[in-house]
Amino acid sequence: MNTQTSNRLILRNGQLLDLQQGRLIAGQEVLIEGDRIIAVRPQSRVPEAGVQAYDLNGKTLMPGMIDCHVHVLASNANLGLNALQPNAIIMYRALPILEAMLGRGFTTVRDAGGADWALARSIELGLVPGPRIFASGKALSQTGGHGDMRARGWLLLNEPCSCCFRAGAIARIVDGVDNVRLAVREELQQGASQIKIMASGGVASPTDPIANTQYSEAEIRAIVDEAEAANTYVMAHAYTPRAIRRAIECGVRTIEHGNLVDADTARLMAERNAFAVPTQVTYEMLAEHGARFGLAQESVAKIEEVRLAGRNALRLFAEADVPMGYGSDLLGEMHEYQTHELKIRAEILGNLAALRSATTVAAQILQREGELGCIAPGALADLLVVNGNPLTDIDCLIGQGENLAMIIQDGSIKKNTLT
Ligand code: ZN
Ligand code: ZN
Repeated sequence: MNTQTSNRLILRNGQLLDLQQGRLIAGQEVLIEGDRIIAVRPQSRVPEAGVQAYDLNGKTLMPGMIDCHVHVLASNANLGLNALQPNAIIMYRALPILEAMLGRGFTTVRDAGGADWALARSIELGLVPGPRIFASGKALSQTGGHGDMRARGWLLLNEPCSCCFRAGAIARIVDGVDNVRLAVREELQQGASQIKIMASGGVASPTDPIANTQYSEAEIRAIVDEAEAANTYVMAHAYTPRAIRRAIECGVRTIEHGNLVDADTARLMAERNAFAVPTQVTYEMLAEHGARFGLAQESVAKIEEVRLAGRNALRLFAEADVPMGYGSDLLGEMHEYQTHELKIRAEILGNLAALRSATTVAAQILQREGELGCIAPGALADLLVVNGNPLTDIDCLIGQGENLAMIIQDGSIKKNTLT
């Protein structure tokens, strides 16, 4: 990938993907200055003088995609082992993961545990190629929760704090109303964009059945209270209707996974203006490759509980009009399947819904509507030039970015095979 910064550039002869109407629009040109789009206007006959012009030759121009649930530091599918790796190894192993995400067309990601402000800032400074990161810092987990990677019998040998502040840990263990308040304040002070909590059992942890709820309501309310005080919000890992309902009633804004949701709980989410971030691809890939890539045996046994229900959850969220953001949640070597979630969504919900999940809806989740996930004056210039029409053929976005002729992030050209 080459990096080139140009002050003013113009994209001509493309077909703009209109995500409101679900169609392509010809005859428009997009003018970029610095990191922003400054005009989307009818195409002039001759390009403006002094502006670098690119002829897109009828290819599709769409916003850079946004993945709302990733763990860029999870280079090992076994999260317990990941947490024990030295910090330098974790960071070096994250570099190709980040670069590959950008290469697939994800110009922004929301990290659901692990990545911190320093990593986000390194990308912003151009030190590391990768998607813009909305970091959560460490996710908050109760003792024995989804972020507690200790096997039974380890308790006295391995204090939580000796491992959960290492770079490779996606979560920290914290219990009690006062302590969770302090933990939220610490994560925000360290630069977290939003707060992630574990509100039910999970797959990649050894001692917490999926059906368990996690954190008391008092703890969740305290966490939400602190996040809202800082004008941000809480995202919660939750699978069952019981876990989702109590999270939503305590003020959580986005439900991660949500595989076992029922119709009533989906309706409650819609009433409370909550979002869902399903991550179906990770269950499909864990079922297929998890054991081979080192997922612990206790975790392999839990996958089927949530995998089949996950496809139905997509339908239930859609029926209840719960807006769905794009999530992949892949671990270790499985990161390469990041775009397959698009294929799953397209099969069940249609191509346009799949595309919106990774653009307009994702921008709402990030509270950056009009700035991300759209092609409009004032938006950040994050753009993809695609060989093909993703409205009729989602396959042009599947894979490792083979059909992306151009990737622009913050007005800077990260890939260009046009010329
Ligand atoms: Zn999770
Ligand atoms: Zn996750």
